[in-house]
Amino acid sequence: MTLLNSWVASANAPDAPFPLNNLPYGVFSTADSDPRCGVAIGDMILDLAAAEDAGLIPLTEALLFDVPFWNEVMEEGPALWAALRARLTELLAEGAPEKAELEALLVPQAEAEMHLPFLVSEFTDFYASKNHATNVGTMFRGPENALPPNWLHIPIGYNGRASSVVVSGTEIRRPWGQLKGPNDDAPRWAPSARFDLELEMGAIVGTASDGPVTVAEADAMIFGYVLLNDWSARDIQAWEYQPLGPFQAKATATSISPWIVTKAALEPFRTDTPAREKELLPHLKDCGPMLYDIELEVTLAPEGKAPSTIARTNYKEMYYSSAQQLAHHTTSGCPMNPGDLLGSGTISGPEKHQRGALLELSWGGKEPITLDTGETRSFLEDGDTLTLHGAAKGAGYTIGFGDCSGTLLPALADPYKR
Ligand code: MN
Repeated sequence: MTLLNSWVASANAPDAPFPLNNLPYGVFSTADSDPRCGVAIGDMILDLAAAEDAGLIPLTEALLFDVPFWNEVMEEGPALWAALRARLTELLAEGAPEKAELEALLVPQAEAEMHLPFLVSEFTDFYASKNHATNVGTMFRGPENALPPNWLHIPIGYNGRASSVVVSGTEIRRPWGQLKGPNDDAPRWAPSARFDLELEMGAIVGTASDGPVTVAEADAMIFGYVLLNDWSARDIQAWEYQPLGPFQAKATATSISPWIVTKAALEPFRTDTPAREKELLPHLKDCGPMLYDIELEVTLAPEGKAPSTIARTNYKEMYYSSAQQLAHHTTSGCPMNPGDLLGSGTISGPEKHQRGALLELSWGGKEPITLDTGETRSFLEDGDTLTLHGAAKGAGYTIGFGDCSGTLLPALADPYKR
């Protein structure tokens, strides 16, 4: 696959995040228009509600794009997804006869406000990068018990909160919680002092299931992917997590990037999962290359200062793919629905600079990292802006994700003193 040229000139640079090969889906509004569906091309957005209204996307009788979410498109299923992508590729390709008509329907991204691209029906988060699980397990339980005995057999996950998912740019408020350090006699009520990020990818389920599905069926159900920051209060987590897993530590907020990069755009970047240390049971086995080669980066900008890169890793570092996580999720008969969001789990590579959370980067606060500004960090400080970046690099083109960003605001006064 090489760069597909578009008549939108800004889409044709080798490092442009949104070339014709990408066509990610979002929900945007402008000063003059309510939130509606759009597709990114170069530094512009094609207003799909307007294009549909003009009869340029005649795929269904019902209108699909005049709503502020992509769930209706997802529900139509993979045949419609493919037809839509083919039609948009045709319309935006160099030489398209509809160019003059479409030019009037482009909105500069700089003038648009982005919204959550879909209604998040439910949110599940996993723990599926072996480097991350080994690092965290070593810190929490010691090196002998780092990986729980089930880890190499099932993708471990917990049911999160759809209500806490926010779009990039939303400010995050430092939470209060019940904290108890290993040397404290009793827990106390205080703002989290160990607030952290988690670098993840989010897979969006596009079609429903009722009963167990195979890994191949699960893969076909996935509509696309976003970058995901699972904000985490480590001090709340350490005290509350046994025996049922994280609860309030993960419930403050989860940020996602505003553009859904479709599975179709990522097809050329498929890559194998790592060698299996224990053979997986047949229903979880890989059915081809299950991961994607996506370069990931996290930057941290202290308030009013330039950003420093604090981690660089790759989605191919995962042990379990999203399709395997989704298949496992259905084994009990759990129904899945369009708009279900699956967090990959923190993505860490084997090297220290490849760790996707400050918990690991600073080794529980024992080894603070130094930013380019000379400041150090063990965990996040008020005013810090965290930004996740993601890109798959093809031959002469890039599939970009659009940033996933959030700024940490200071804790409010004690919410119970009123
Ligand atoms: Mn997580």
